[in-house]
Amino acid sequence: KARDPTPVEELSPADVFIAVKTTKKYHHTRLDLLLDTWISTNMLQVIRKTHMINTNCSAAHSRQALSCKMAVEYLHQWFCHVDDDNYVNIRPLVKLLSHYSHAHDVYIGRPSLDRPLEATERFGDSHTRPVRFWFATGGAGFCVSRGLALKMSPWASGGNFMTTADRIRLPDDCTVGYIIETLLGVGLIRSPLFHSHLENLQLVSPTQIHHQVTLSYGTFDSKRNIINVRGALSLDEDPTSLHCLSECLCAKLSLLCVF
Ligand code: UDP
Ligand code: MN
Repeated sequence: KARDPTPVEELSPADVFIAVKTTKKYHHTRLDLLLDTWISTNMLQVIRKTHMINTNCSAAHSRQALSCKMAVEYLHQWFCHVDDDNYVNIRPLVKLLSHYSHAHDVYIGRPSLDRPLEATERFGDSHTRPVRFWFATGGAGFCVSRGLALKMSPWASGGNFMTTADRIRLPDDCTVGYIIETLLGVGLIRSPLFHSHLENLQLVSPTQIHHQVTLSYGTFDSKRNIINVRGALSLDEDPTSLHCLSECLCAKLSLLCVF
């Protein structure tokens, strides 16, 4: 079905909450790169704005104070999750999401498989049933509308996510697909604008790179898998090519990192 070319909502980067999944061992090697590139000064302003709202909640670690913080999170219209080896192009992301209503049930990303995942749902002591569902690969990033995020709460908020994940014993991105497709009956919207290093990143056309919502880097068939972009830095200086992407496009074309 063709998508309406006119945006359904006015959306700004401040309306989108982007969670970056990371772990201590990657803080230096991966997170620093993100802070040098797409998590730009503008992005940090967005984060600061969010923190300002946060301080209205009590500093106590009470249940009420924590619920207040959760409510603050829900002020955002969209929730996106990316890995720490993803590059996010904020402008195309905001543009894509503006074509959907945040009040509707929207789950958007790229599946890594060409068929639904088949899993076994376990509930109670010995009850099981086979389930089939699509999921957006976490390594390419995905987004969920506020309307859908609210419906996911009983299975996804607080400690509930772990309990739900135990029911199918699959990685977190699969669990998200299970909650949305199987438990809530909402279908994944596929977007070719999300990219992980599970696909050949050389196939992303250089002229289309700045229109992509997410990019990544890594290895594929034990070969270096990076986007095809030429810039001021050599591959030795910038093995991910993402630094180069940011520098080239920010400085020369003024296309990225601009809100
Ligand atoms: N990650 C994590 N804990 C770990 C290992 C990885 O939180 O012990 C995160 C990592 O920061 C990244 C995501 O999981 O955001 C995927 O990790 P990675 O890129 O290393 O693996 P792959 O892409 O091959 O699945
Ligand atoms: Mn990865």
